[in-house]
Amino acid sequence: MSDAARAAGFVEKTAELTVAAGAAPGGASLVGLTRDQLKDSLSAIGVPERELKMRVAQLWHWIYFRGAKDFAEMTNVGKELRAKLAAAYTLARPQVVSEQVSKDGTRKWLIRMASTGPLDKGAEIECVYIPEVDRGTLCVSSQVGCTLTCSFCHTGTQRLVRNLTSAEIVAQLIVARDAIGDWPGATPPEGAFVPTDGGRFVSNIVFMGMGEPLYNTDNVIAAIDVMSDGEGLTLSRRRITVSTSGVVPQMERLGAEANTMLAISLHAVRDELRDELVPINRKYDIKQLLDACRAYPGLSNARRITFEYVMLKGVNDSDADARELVRLLKGIPAKINLIPFNPWPGSKYECSDWERIERFSEIVFRAGYASPVRTPRGRDILAACGQLKSETEKLRARARMMAEQGIGAEGVYALGDSE
Ligand code: SAH
Ligand code: SF4
Repeated sequence: MSDAARAAGFVEKTAELTVAAGAAPGGASLVGLTRDQLKDSLSAIGVPERELKMRVAQLWHWIYFRGAKDFAEMTNVGKELRAKLAAAYTLARPQVVSEQVSKDGTRKWLIRMASTGPLDKGAEIECVYIPEVDRGTLCVSSQVGCTLTCSFCHTGTQRLVRNLTSAEIVAQLIVARDAIGDWPGATPPEGAFVPTDGGRFVSNIVFMGMGEPLYNTDNVIAAIDVMSDGEGLTLSRRRITVSTSGVVPQMERLGAEANTMLAISLHAVRDELRDELVPINRKYDIKQLLDACRAYPGLSNARRITFEYVMLKGVNDSDADARELVRLLKGIPAKINLIPFNPWPGSKYECSDWERIERFSEIVFRAGYASPVRTPRGRDILAACGQLKSETEKLRARARMMAEQGIGAEGVYALGDSE
């Protein structure tokens, strides 16, 4: 989008997208499905009603606890049913198009989702793994691209946008666990940096990849249910964080239904500036946003909201900004996460100087807030916050071609065509 278009007041590039319904992309893989979806898949191949619950439990264990890639591994499932399953379905993962490993051990995967139709090569998204000694964090995407247009974010410049299905969101965790050997009996690739504390290699999930999770709330909540299920992937909900730019009407539902941690992309303390940096602010301003934060269920000092604040040189990084930030957050159990701005090709901002970030952080710290500065990870492979933008852009031309030919590309949208 051009600067003129932004100045003219665009909040987002298109209206909220409808959710591509339930089933696995491409229809055939069972990987990523919810219990209900698995049940339907089993019913469809004639498994009798009375057996469904038990069969779902078996599949669940093999797919999500063991990471099975082949029905033949499922030794407690009868041979006949295994053959039926193999004839109708697969355990295929989305394709890993490329893997980049940063000097600091961060890994970024470009993942191609299954095709949704004959002319669709499959949407591509990025997913980033950030290992530390005592935890491994997976940064997942919730949409292909993002309809919002935050002025400092690379993803916001991507024009092709669709919601990911819940299966596609879950599949990112499966792909990551495959790649780093995080299944019972598997081992990590030689020389890989993974946590050494004896826990899971992926212990935390952050919805901080591409997309606005609360524009795809149904699928995000369904995916969180699968990821946190105690008999399968077993991630603690307290170790799952959903980051939103401020979709106020969806926040309460997220808290009530998914009960995860919440992060808010605040980035500015005055509406005038936030309108520009995070344009959804024109719909839901800072006051509305912070009121919704105060109402988020289950907050306490042990369960705080993270406020993300990207440090932009000369834009939002003054002492006065820091003091106003502290004033605004009064009464909200909060952590403040200062993010050094990560530049991307064509970005118009610069990252604040280190001394400025330290000074800002000190003001916040003196007011009683932990204010870690997020160490940029994976900068050398453009895997840091806000740098994600997939090659799916290239699909735009194809989407237009399909529209011209009257072929529906389910869930694929070409946005704008003036540039
Ligand atoms: N759409 C959601 C989640 C994805 S963005 C949201 O906006 O919250 C994850 C975080 O990275 C957000 O806080 C976002 O504002 C921040 N971010 C985006 N671009 C960035 C950049 N270039 N440098 C640093 N942080 C950035
Ligand atoms: Fe979308 Fe978040 Fe980027 Fe804004 S910061 S454009 S909401 S991904």
